[in-house]
Amino acid sequence: MAQVKAETSSAHSEKLRRSIARTQVTIAAAYAYDSLILFGFYAAGYVGIAVPLSVSAALSVLVAVVNLAHHSGWSRDRKDPTLFLPQQLYAITVALAAAMAAPQIAFQPLATLFAISAFAFMAPDRRSQVVGAGAAALGSASVILTTGPDLAMPTSTLAGQALTSAVVFGLLARCIWVADFFRKLQRRLSEKNKALKAAIEQIDAMANRDELTGLPNRRCIGRLLAEEIALCDQTGLALSVALVDIDHFKRINDAWGHLAGDRTLQIFASVASSAIRASDRLGRFGGEEFLLVLAATRLKEAEAILNRIRNYICSHDWSAIDNDLHVTITVGATEYARGDSVEELIRRADLALYLGKESGRDRVVLDRTPLQELRPGQSKALPQRVLAE
Ligand code: GH3
Ligand code: MG
Ligand code: MG
Repeated sequence: MAQVKAETSSAHSEKLRRSIARTQVTIAAAYAYDSLILFGFYAAGYVGIAVPLSVSAALSVLVAVVNLAHHSGWSRDRKDPTLFLPQQLYAITVALAAAMAAPQIAFQPLATLFAISAFAFMAPDRRSQVVGAGAAALGSASVILTTGPDLAMPTSTLAGQALTSAVVFGLLARCIWVADFFRKLQRRLSEKNKALKAAIEQIDAMANRDELTGLPNRRCIGRLLAEEIALCDQTGLALSVALVDIDHFKRINDAWGHLAGDRTLQIFASVASSAIRASDRLGRFGGEEFLLVLAATRLKEAEAILNRIRNYICSHDWSAIDNDLHVTITVGATEYARGDSVEELIRRADLALYLGKESGRDRVVLDRTPLQELRPGQSKALPQRVLAE
């Protein structure tokens, strides 16, 4: 368990490391692009060489320091291993300083503030996001207020126009990168959701299905019975319940082996399932016993259905397991009376089943005894089984 946890956590930190590395490459590329444009402004005569040199040096230092922090493992133990806020504040400061130092091309550094802020979705928490955005807003307002009309968009020459267009293209490219990032994230999320849904369905099936026969398991058939009881109370429709037990099943196991026994249970489940109506519910109650819930069915009608199932089973060709195999079932059935609990119904069906076994097996026995007579005394000697067993 501890090993699995350690492996999961190391896989997670490896994923985080790769994701940080990918983002750093993108950020470095964006800085390189911004620096290149500043060199362009120098070449076009808008600024002195000091501007592109100092901005690109400052951004290179940032990229180098952040990379060092990641590669040395120093950032791993920080509260925010991506070092989001320090990077944002540093980049904002560089942009604002460039705008102040070269107001004639201020459009470029001020525009990059948008690009820097577009990465705010990576903020580890709301506080970092607010601090980053606040610094950009207050900083740019201060620069605009202090520098005033000197701040310009350099479009006085064709080169300036081309470079300003390149600034806009750079911004658009970053917007597309962010949009693409979220599109991929959304796709990954929907794939994960699909896998999660499949896993939940599998867990649900495992929790409600009997693995061997594929029928509802004891818990599930108990719940279905409780639902039918609630429906009966609402609608006043009849409800019959039967416990079906394979006769001398132990002998089948002993004579043909456990696997043949398993196969018998599977074939029984499929034959019985095909013999019941869509509204009826068959579940594995345990071992070689099955619980059949016959919705909207009076006991007399249930008797015919149960005898039909019994005939199907005993006339079934069991040669798929062995030519000499013959299977019979004994069924105990009862009808729901208002106020009966799940346990009470099963107890009465079980009682009828017991009588069926006692009187020779391979038969359907109906619980017709008035409840008052059955409950005291007689039931004490009989098996008492309830769903919560
Ligand atoms: P009766 O006619 O009185 O019902 O006798 P029986 O042999 O059918 O009943 P008993 O309760 O004596 O034995 C049931 C056997 O069913 C014992 C148990 O090992 C076997 N059994 C229970 N679950 C499974 C299963 O999933 N697979 C197989 N092969 N056998 C099972
Ligand atoms: Mg049996
Ligand atoms: Mg049994």
